[in-house]
Amino acid sequence: MSRALAGSAVLSVKLVFLGTGSGKPTPHRGVSSMLLFRDGEVLMFDCGEGTQTQLAKSSVRPGGISSVFLTHFHGDHVNGLPGLIGSFTLNQREEVLDIVGPKGMRRWFKTLRDLHILWPGFDLRVNEVEGKGIVMERDGFHVEAVGLRHRITAWGYSYIEQPRPGRFDVEKAKALGVPHGPLFGKLQRGESVETPDGTVVEPHQVLGPSRPGLKITYCTDTAPCDGAVELAKDADILIHESTYPGGDEKLAHSRGHSTASDAARTAKAAGAKKLVLTHLSQKYPRTDIFVEHARKIFEETIAAHDLLELDVDRREC
Ligand SMILES: [Zn+2]
Ligand SMILES: [Zn+2]
Repeated sequence: MSRALAGSAVLSVKLVFLGTGSGKPTPHRGVSSMLLFRDGEVLMFDCGEGTQTQLAKSSVRPGGISSVFLTHFHGDHVNGLPGLIGSFTLNQREEVLDIVGPKGMRRWFKTLRDLHILWPGFDLRVNEVEGKGIVMERDGFHVEAVGLRHRITAWGYSYIEQPRPGRFDVEKAKALGVPHGPLFGKLQRGESVETPDGTVVEPHQVLGPSRPGLKITYCTDTAPCDGAVELAKDADILIHESTYPGGDEKLAHSRGHSTASDAARTAKAAGAKKLVLTHLSQKYPRTDIFVEHARKIFEETIAAHDLLELDVDRREC
């Protein structure tokens, strides 16, 4: 079932949480993986062990996955990827699969091929992240990476859409003689139109200032750091690790992790609009304890659970 974060599902991006636990999968909570659906394309963030089983339980068609972003090489974030690629091969996938992640991926895939663990019949386009910045550009959006603070190299990612046109002023358009109908759509798409009495109306006459595109930030694994705040700056949705609920900051930070309170502080410092907690310790089967800690600092917080689907309405963001 889909839960709307804001408004209707029209023009929405959908997030599907496949695994939301830390460390190892349990019958109740898988390990890290999340999907982002946008106009005909599916991006996967992390692919922990058991991701394929979670996919099978969801409504997702795995063949639609075009790109995989790996945050770091800890097993709870990558162990599911060889299996997923193996299944793509069995299913005779032909489309290129983009894989973005830390340095070392080429070596990893070479070994998997050399040992005949994988023999993909499609291209794996590997992009090893070497520094912060844009790691993928597509029509309508790009993905940026920023380094986090973990026990090994870890990258967080932000999905950022191109700025959207300004709000369409219906009353102004009517006053200028534009009839309700297809001409409205043309103006909204930035095209000038001619009214029935021959007047030319330009888009700038009826559109407000352009608005920033939707931004969704995926930030795990990390102790609190400037990089996380920078990555999540003004994000509409910040998905942040919360391995511990709260009060365990010293322990969390010594292991390169965050508490729910840390995640909330990062969301607040970054000016994010919503916070979704994930990478929850398997020691805590319930999620309310994480949310309670975070909401003391950042009210707009929820905790993810496996197979949670969120519709993020672009018009409201
Ligand atoms: Zn982890
Ligand atoms: Zn880790």
